[in-house]
Amino acid sequence: MLGLMMHRPLLVSSLIQHADRHHGSTPVVSRNAEGTLYRGTWHTVHERSRRLAHALQGLGVAPGDRIGTLAWNNHRHLEAYYAISGMGAVCHTINPRLFPEQIAGIIQHAGDSVLLLDPMFLPLLESLAPQLSAVRHVIVMGEAGVPLPPSPLPLLAYEALLDVASSDYVWPEMDELTAAALCYTSGTTGKPKGVLYSHRSTLLHAWAVSLPDSLSFSARDAVLPVVPLFHANAWGFPYAAALTGAKLVLPGPLLDGAHLYQLLESEKVTLTAGVPTVWNNLMQYLQAEGRQLHYLQRLGVGGAACPKTILSYFEDVQKVTVLPGWGMTETSPVAALTQPKARQANLQGQARRDWLARSGRALFGVDMEIVDDQGQPLPHDGRTCGHLQVQGHWVCDGYYKEPASPLQQGWFPTGDVAVIDGEGFMQITDRAKDMIKSGGEWISSIELEQVTAGHPAILEAAVIGVQHPHWGERPFLMAVKKSGQEVTAGELRGYLEQRIAKWWVPDEIVFVDSLPHTATGKLNKAALRAQRGL
Ligand code: ADP
Repeated sequence: MLGLMMHRPLLVSSLIQHADRHHGSTPVVSRNAEGTLYRGTWHTVHERSRRLAHALQGLGVAPGDRIGTLAWNNHRHLEAYYAISGMGAVCHTINPRLFPEQIAGIIQHAGDSVLLLDPMFLPLLESLAPQLSAVRHVIVMGEAGVPLPPSPLPLLAYEALLDVASSDYVWPEMDELTAAALCYTSGTTGKPKGVLYSHRSTLLHAWAVSLPDSLSFSARDAVLPVVPLFHANAWGFPYAAALTGAKLVLPGPLLDGAHLYQLLESEKVTLTAGVPTVWNNLMQYLQAEGRQLHYLQRLGVGGAACPKTILSYFEDVQKVTVLPGWGMTETSPVAALTQPKARQANLQGQARRDWLARSGRALFGVDMEIVDDQGQPLPHDGRTCGHLQVQGHWVCDGYYKEPASPLQQGWFPTGDVAVIDGEGFMQITDRAKDMIKSGGEWISSIELEQVTAGHPAILEAAVIGVQHPHWGERPFLMAVKKSGQEVTAGELRGYLEQRIAKWWVPDEIVFVDSLPHTATGKLNKAALRAQRGL
């Protein structure tokens, strides 16, 4: 017997409709590349996204078409998110920090027929013009009244299109399994692959990240995603903010410590999220200038393990609750968050800092398991390392235009190695490709980097495995010193010897001026290995 309840498909358009209808006057603030603030509301986002949907329809965009975006976190990009998915097309966010050749390859692979981009990316796209013959229109999301430059690309001005488009667009009803968005993995460990989110997966994920034991969004919050809209849907911020009616603050491309601090304060931001590199920069700025954050309550950190120095600085000095999380493009991305259960709620000092090193416990809607090389489940004892696998409502089932399924017995293999403790808290020990096998035993590069970054003179550290005739592999450590700070390799070795097993201490320690980062701001171990001819 079937239940007798209404069936409403879970559609992205319902988010913006709700935000307009019930939180229409709540601000959506956006900063452009020049630092100027635009002040809209959920009502204006809805109104302008409907105009854009009309304009795209006028350009021949049909359901299922892939529409690419190359843009920072700004209100036009947000409008594009809602217009494209809402009309049944697929919003393909492209990471502008990828190599130009990768960008061209991704646009071709996705088959994007229209591109929307920030004006600053025009030279980049023009350099790729010969490879973009399938792109019919390029819409420049510039300020109103700014004339378009002569270009080899078929350019149109965003604001001029909106000016003549009507806002009476009615969002179509469609199957909730329809594709809503497409995001390619950033290729940290291989060729970029397209992850195709459905309306249903996007909505369920937005619901899950809004929950109190997740990032906890509410209509009383002002939320600022530092994580880009092109990095796995900005971890659900654009959707969860509409779902809950939170004020949304979009920081544009100015993401250095000074600009970020200024916006967090002036817009009274209560929740933000980003990769550790961003928080390291903000911490350096706050420390150097002796500044205090007055409004920020929660800081989400994910995408890579967060150095303990950063966790303790924001918790102890800035009195901000840090929320480490784990996920990947393939998991929409949020799958696990480090929120305490009753037993961890009152942990203080070192005990809390140690616990915060966890990557998170599973949100309802996803499940996690660790398995051995044969795929057999391993104990959840907080010590046994295994291959992490996940399944759930917002976990990918396959890649766009890739016939082979990535699943293994119904589970998605993450490529990460992790432990899970008796309370269900998971901790990533490494990416499988980054683990170092020395004398038959595993060394966690993340753990070594964490301990090294704890030295007061160290800004950032990276560890890779290098071949060794006797041990198989040995850890090789590269570290960047904080400006004005001194430490020798011998002193650093001494520091490490007091904190980790002797056989974990790297044989070679070198200081470098900077370390390479990926397009999503993570340590680029592939580039480090290539530099050493590995
Ligand atoms: P890419 O694989 O190209 O970096 P993603 O942004 O999808 O693109 O990255 C997902 C990966 O990031 C995970 O598989 C994991 O290795 C790493 N990661 C994410 N969150 C954490 C975390 N909290 N701790 C350690 N590693 C993490």
